[in-house]
Amino acid sequence: MSLAFPKPEPRKTERRRVVTDRGRRRSDFRMAVMIADGGCKDRTCPCNNGRPVFRLEAHHVQPRSQGGPDTVDNGITLCQIAHNKVHRGATVNGRRVSGYEYMLSILRQHKASPDYRWAEAEAWIERRRKDV
Ligand SMILES: [Zn+2]
Ligand SMILES: [Zn+2]
Repeated sequence: MSLAFPKPEPRKTERRRVVTDRGRRRSDFRMAVMIADGGCKDRTCPCNNGRPVFRLEAHHVQPRSQGGPDTVDNGITLCQIAHNKVHRGATVNGRRVSGYEYMLSILRQHKASPDYRWAEAEAWIERRRKDV
């Protein structure tokens, strides 16, 4: 499944309108990704192991700053705890990993699933990473 939310074309003179459209696009993206996932996708997260679930958020696998689209295929639902790890890095089994590595570890948890949908975004980031 791939849902795209095309960028509206706001008029430059309507600054308030621009902000509103962007806000709506973000909440459409968040809602679609959360419906597709049904909860935090980090299986190792405390929220999937008996702890309370904090606010659910949608993360862009391929970052928006690197051209990542607002599509379900490029989104992953994470609670606030897991989302922070994906951006700031985390300590896993005593080893410090970057946010990017942590995100890949979450995607790997789902790789065997027939509806794994992040291959394209992941491959794009891997290619980009080798170029740097
Ligand atoms: Zn994020
Ligand atoms: Zn979680």
